[in-house]
Amino acid sequence: MFGLFGGRFVAETLMPLILDLEEHWAKAKVDPQFQAELKALSTYYAGRPSKLYFAEGLTRHLREVASAGGSNGGAKVFFKREDLNHTGSHKINNTMGQILLARRMGKKRIIAETGAGQHGVATATVCALFGMPCVVYMGATDIERQAPNVFRMKMLGAEVRPVTSGTGTLKDAMNDALRDWVANVTDTYYIIGTVAGPHPYPAMVRDFQSIIGVEARAQILKAEGRLPDKLVACIGGGSNAMGLFHPFLDDRDVAMDAVEAAGLGLNSGKHAASLQGGKPGVLHGNRTFLLMDDDGQIAEAHSISAGLDYPGIGPEHSWLHDIKRVNYVAATDDEAVEAFKLLSRTEGILPALEPAHALAHVARIAPKMAKDKIIVMNLCGRGDKDIFALAERLGVKL
Ligand SMILES: *Cc1c(COP(=O)(O)O)cnc(C)c1O
Repeated sequence: MFGLFGGRFVAETLMPLILDLEEHWAKAKVDPQFQAELKALSTYYAGRPSKLYFAEGLTRHLREVASAGGSNGGAKVFFKREDLNHTGSHKINNTMGQILLARRMGKKRIIAETGAGQHGVATATVCALFGMPCVVYMGATDIERQAPNVFRMKMLGAEVRPVTSGTGTLKDAMNDALRDWVANVTDTYYIIGTVAGPHPYPAMVRDFQSIIGVEARAQILKAEGRLPDKLVACIGGGSNAMGLFHPFLDDRDVAMDAVEAAGLGLNSGKHAASLQGGKPGVLHGNRTFLLMDDDGQIAEAHSISAGLDYPGIGPEHSWLHDIKRVNYVAATDDEAVEAFKLLSRTEGILPALEPAHALAHVARIAPKMAKDKIIVMNLCGRGDKDIFALAERLGVKL
């Protein structure tokens, strides 16, 4: 449990399974052989360590913004380049870890749920690599919206099962995946894609993603001889943010800002900011902040970025919010689109729309910080997947 958040709200039949998973994870975590397997895969397959990059062009631009406003500020901005990983985001860190665990547990079949399709692709990828059958649950509405990722998963050999219950989106896909797991407890392993789900998933996924922060810590010490002043990451379920933040939580001088998707605005009712616009409830086997209507029904999240379109947030974030260790802020669709353009032009990097939210926040705060301050932002995914959504929004026909 993370304070009042987290826990295990699951069907009785799943309990032995989850306890078994917890036991295996506890052993694997400290087993040098498991760690060596994961390290080899991370290095030769995913391309780790990802680089820590000083964004000089962006920093220069933000200093000009500061200067135009009569200030002498403009913090140095560094990116943790998770966009350069195989499959284009941080998601592969988690699916590599979990499939190694599944294999160790003797499981023969993998299931997953996906919204935008990014986690589905990362799961289908490792299943192809290890020759395991893979079923991905995906809302029927999302299947229509995310055709390129559905095609990718199929090419990788996965079966994509459309979910028509509810609104045919991510939360319904999660329910069906949990149902499949209950029905196939002996041979099936469920790869959850973010720091959510029943314990131990939130802690385990965080541990797999913590490689981001572990590397970033060593890299910034090497580059600048000191720790950063601020870390920034976007929040869907919260795994890339937890991965960057966790190894720095005990460093009291390192501030952390997590950026939720404000969609059309926090007051519009059309956003995905579960912490800032939601309340505590139970979803996907854990207690955390959720977007709900007045009757306590899970509300639909909205964001231009499909990967942030999740109506909840990992329970550890709810706790870090409670104890005020992490500062939770938001960026709108419009701000994310502007940030996408800004990075494309100042650095020659097309970011995914998810980290474009984090970038929008960086562009707000960096000019107000002194020049000797250091920001490390998790550039958690590349933008190739988003060009269709972006073109449509900008009124361009491809
Ligand atoms: C899935 C995804 C996210 C959101 O998930 P988190 O668990 O919050 O990290 C963010 N960025 C990218 C690029 C993604 O693919």
